[in-house]
Amino acid sequence: MRSAIGIGVLLLAFLVLAGPARAGDLRIGVRVGETGVALRGGQITALTSSDGSPAGPTLAGESWGVELAAYRARAGQYTSSWLARAAARALGETGYPALVSREGETWVVATPPQPRAEAAAELAAALAQAGFATRVDLGRYPDAGAPGFRLLTAEGAGLVLLSKLDVTGAEVEGRAYRGSLEIARSPATGLLQAVNAVAGEDYLRGVVPHEMPAGWPLEALKAQAVAARTYAAANRGRHAAAGFDLCAGVHCQVYGGRAVEHERTDRAVAATAGLILTYGGTPINAVFHAHAGGHTDSSQAIWGWSAPYLPGVSTTGEKPLPWRLYVTRAGLEAALESRLRAAAPALAGGSGGIRGLLPALHTAAGRVKELEIQAARGVARLSGNALREALGVGVFRSTLFQPVALLETRFGPPGAPVLTYARWPSAAEATLELISLPLGDSSPVPFGLTPGWAWPAGFFFLGDGFGHGVGMSQWGAREMALAGRSAELILASFYPGAVLTAAR
Ligand SMILES: [Zn+2]
Repeated sequence: MRSAIGIGVLLLAFLVLAGPARAGDLRIGVRVGETGVALRGGQITALTSSDGSPAGPTLAGESWGVELAAYRARAGQYTSSWLARAAARALGETGYPALVSREGETWVVATPPQPRAEAAAELAAALAQAGFATRVDLGRYPDAGAPGFRLLTAEGAGLVLLSKLDVTGAEVEGRAYRGSLEIARSPATGLLQAVNAVAGEDYLRGVVPHEMPAGWPLEALKAQAVAARTYAAANRGRHAAAGFDLCAGVHCQVYGGRAVEHERTDRAVAATAGLILTYGGTPINAVFHAHAGGHTDSSQAIWGWSAPYLPGVSTTGEKPLPWRLYVTRAGLEAALESRLRAAAPALAGGSGGIRGLLPALHTAAGRVKELEIQAARGVARLSGNALREALGVGVFRSTLFQPVALLETRFGPPGAPVLTYARWPSAAEATLELISLPLGDSSPVPFGLTPGWAWPAGFFFLGDGFGHGVGMSQWGAREMALAGRSAELILASFYPGAVLTAAR
């Protein structure tokens, strides 16, 4: 199938300047502690104090921080640090983290500061239950009666009570950002949050190197830059309730600020400035994954919703990326227990043990869509995605796999060790199909003989590719770029029908 792609007109050039937030900036929620933010250097551009005190000084070059008024549950006051430490250890053994701090001539044992009074009150009640009834009380930390939060120097002296602080050029938790930073309580959670207001193109400079190695071919990096820009355009405002557009974690796109920028990814961002993919005039859902294992699948096949620009396509040139995972039967049963209880009424009281796995439904590209789990007390069906999530998407790399039951292990002749195990399609028809694999694999392999055929010792999962398999394969993009294809052609083959358009 041929795919059409058009190039729109570049309507808007982005200015790349650091400075106070401007209209059009993206607002990115960056990670800080719940009750404190460590800052270094920078310039205060606006300060809203909650007690009418004047604006604080510029603290360029110094380490400083802001701290939310927080609560802690106190579990006693001791005259020696040794006694306090022993009490903290005892608390730790009951499952409550405890900190020891000096207060004048005494040592206080308390839980870490909590941003919410109710949470600290609950902890205090739990500590009382655990036998720490003496002197368990609730105190405000660091100081009483503060409606906002405090700006602190490195020594911890409060400078001024704040309700909002805008800075530029500061490192936040050791990380530098372009644009400006706004530190305030989250309107959604009441916790402290930092929002980086940054020009869209500068944001991408901190995103693309996280998504694709900077040493990869430039045309692949350009395709990645367009996909990331499109994602940002389509999802802008996803965190509107919390006061920002996108978060800096895997939930949206990983964003590392200035610290992760690289000259090559910068070049890919600049070369595609402002370009996004649209379909019917709307930014597309430009999903991507690491490696398709030879063929992508449609969004309909994997997630059950259809998008005309997300069909399954072949990734010619993509070299195989085989993976292998061994899971003991007990490990598999533990991972699937709650899912199996929910999946079949017969298994509501427990599966009684897993005896076999049988792929029951495949996608067009061969990914396991549905899997029959044969348990002692009955049979349940799970999606391939559910199995992958249960075992961990980082190690169970894709749903392009086949399960193989391990029934017995044997060694080959000396000098050429061979592990032999049997494929087991179902408990009923235990056809014996021997597969040999060389040892020296990184997967943990159990040695020993499993008696009889009734219970496998565990399961091998032999797979290919990495990721969900929808949209652009990054590895496929790399291979296409190495073969001389342009970013436009790479995008057109993974998102057929989508149009390259200038964002505005
Ligand atoms: Zn997010």
